[in-house]
Amino acid sequence: MSRPPAESTAPTPSTVVDAEVLAHGRLTWEGEFNDTRFARLKDVALSDSPQVAVKLAFAILDHRPVVEGTLNTEVELVCQRCMAAMRHPVSEQFALMLIGSEDDLDQVPESYEPWLSNVQRLNIVDLIEEQLLLALPLIAKHVDQQDCVQIAPGLLLDTPENSVVAPQETNQVGSVQRPFGNLRELLRK
Ligand SMILES: [Zn+2]
Repeated sequence: MSRPPAESTAPTPSTVVDAEVLAHGRLTWEGEFNDTRFARLKDVALSDSPQVAVKLAFAILDHRPVVEGTLNTEVELVCQRCMAAMRHPVSEQFALMLIGSEDDLDQVPESYEPWLSNVQRLNIVDLIEEQLLLALPLIAKHVDQQDCVQIAPGLLLDTPENSVVAPQETNQVGSVQRPFGNLRELLRK
């Protein structure tokens, strides 16, 4: 097995790369994140440092660097049906065109998502964090409802029924006023 001499395929590659160099060389960045913290993941997942396997293939399209990537991981989320922790597998593919300025947004072909960044110092952690967040479901749920942690029926009766105060009966049926009750008698007179 002979590996290409490119430094980008070293066992612990740098997570800040010159995307232009990689793109012109049509190089692949491959790595695995094991204890990297993805800060924005903290809001949606139980752990912000999942194990993520990443492969990024760089190339040039219309004189601009593009990345076609895959990421594979398992993220720990909270099922919104049973509120238990669940492992959510993510296998995501994406295609990005790297642009250095918003002025270039209209240059990005439809089959690519724009990725605004410093192209010479592309931060792969940021890029992967964003793709990971995009891949997560808005509302996490066990795929099969049978996998949901069963809640014992007794626990559902948290709210005692007598805590709901019935509105006081204010109609006094026995003494309904009939303002014209005597009208007929009065007319007879
Ligand atoms: Zn569940």
